[in-house]
Order: sequence, then C-alpha cells, then structure tokens
Amino acid sequence: MFYTVPKGYFPNFTPKFQMINRITGNYMKVLIVVDMQNDFVDGALGSSEAMHIVEPVKAKIATYKANGDAIFYTQDTHTEQYLETQEGKRLPVTHCIKGTPGWDLVPGVYLDGCPLVEKPAFGSLELAEKISRLESVEFIELVGLCTDICVISNALIVKARMPEIPIRVDASCCAGVTPESHRNALQAMKMCQIEILNE
Ligand SMILES: [Zn+2]
Repeated sequence: MFYTVPKGYFPNFTPKFQMINRITGNYMKVLIVVDMQNDFVDGALGSSEAMHIVEPVKAKIATYKANGDAIFYTQDTHTEQYLETQEGKRLPVTHCIKGTPGWDLVPGVYLDGCPLVEKPAFGSLELAEKISRLESVEFIELVGLCTDICVISNALIVKARMPEIPIRVDASCCAGVTPESHRNALQAMKMCQIEILNE
C-alpha cells in the first residue's frame, strides 16, 4: 500500500498523479540521499572529500524538489552497543548513535516530510521495498556517503529489487572512505550495470 507523503513537495508522488503519470507516460525520478550525516562529513568518520560534496548534494536535492520528483533519505543508525556489533568490531569508531548530533543529517540537506529510512546496516531492504511500491519510476539516482560502503550497498539492493529500472550514481555527489576506494566502488558498480555520472 501507499504510505504517507508530504503535501506540496513532489506532486507526482501522490496516487492520483501516479495514475495520471501512467496514462500520460510522465515518469517520476527518484533520488536516494545516502547517509549525509554529520559523523560522515565533519564528525567521527568525516573527510575533506565528504565536505566537498555537501553543496553539490544540496544542489541536486533542489533540482529534484523543483521538478516535483521523489527524494528518499537514509540515516546510518547505531545504538550504544555499536562496538559489540559485527560492524563495530571491524570499524571500532563509534558513530551515528541515534539521537546524537553526529547521527543528524547535515544542516540544510533534509526536506521536511520526505521519506527517511533509518538503517542499522550498510544496505536497507526497507528502502528498496518502499521505492518498489512507487509506479512510473523513470530511474533511481543515488548520491551521498560513502561511495564504497553504503552507496554501493544500496545501489545493488535497489538494482536487485527493481532490475528493470535504470540505476545511476552521480560520482560528483559521492565520497568514499579514501579516493581510491571511491574509484574502486564506481568501477564495481559500473560492472553491475549501474550508470556512473560525472566521474
Ligand atoms: Zn555505521
């Protein structure tokens, strides 16, 4: 079933408009903004590469908003027990603890009312499921952090869930743990038939 969506942000996103879109062939674009959280930008796991994509990501979001397209957000979400998790044992840097400033999205990135998925792992099945309920989707684009962990994980999950919808990633709106691992992830996604823009 359809779930609650904000009024006014993306008119194409309502059941009525979806029906019109199907009739008119007017397709909707979907943007996924992955983990644009303080801890990944200038916090516990921040980097200068991540800081550099904040403005391009904001500009991308503004374009989708202006076109009335759909914007989904993900939020890396851990508990105080983070260091005891599989991820915490391999990456013993506490980050994105729910309710802390580092867990919050970077100021100015979130548009009120847009769907936001909290995820305890790299990829989110819930995100793919929510998007799969939309109709008349032209393509799905991913931006955000980090290219080599959560962007690639979610790109491959949405690709598996919706194999007939083109998936793209804007390289200029992503940053990896290192510049090299960013490039490696772009190559890996390309091999899986994900279109890479602005490489
Ligand atoms: Zn994490």
